[in-house]
Amino acid sequence: MSEHIDCPYCGTDNNIDDWFDRSDSHCQGEFDIQCTDCLEYFEVTITMNPSFSSCEILMADCIECGRHYRYRHQSFPRPKKYEEVPLQDYKVCDPCYYTAISEEMGDGKDAVDKV
Ligand SMILES: [Zn+2]
Ligand SMILES: [Zn+2]
Repeated sequence: MSEHIDCPYCGTDNNIDDWFDRSDSHCQGEFDIQCTDCLEYFEVTITMNPSFSSCEILMADCIECGRHYRYRHQSFPRPKKYEEVPLQDYKVCDPCYYTAISEEMGDGKDAVDKV
């Protein structure tokens, strides 16, 4: 069975089998392929087995901003600033998590320390 996917740029039907086999990142659920027609690279996200599961709706208080938010999962990787937080207490809402991560990823923090 061969898999095809439309190029998001020109709509050309691309066979992704070659790319899928070649890609060593496919286990991460996405990889880049190059359109055979317009030669643009685009990202393919793999959703092999759609599955449904149910769970209770959990609410938690964000340890950063205190907001009562809908808690889905613990966000990883854990930003360094929360490393000391016990795992069961590690509940950070998405906006706070992304702020913490981008502070850590960006040259922001290091640059500030050096200045
Ligand atoms: Zn294309
Ligand atoms: Zn928050």
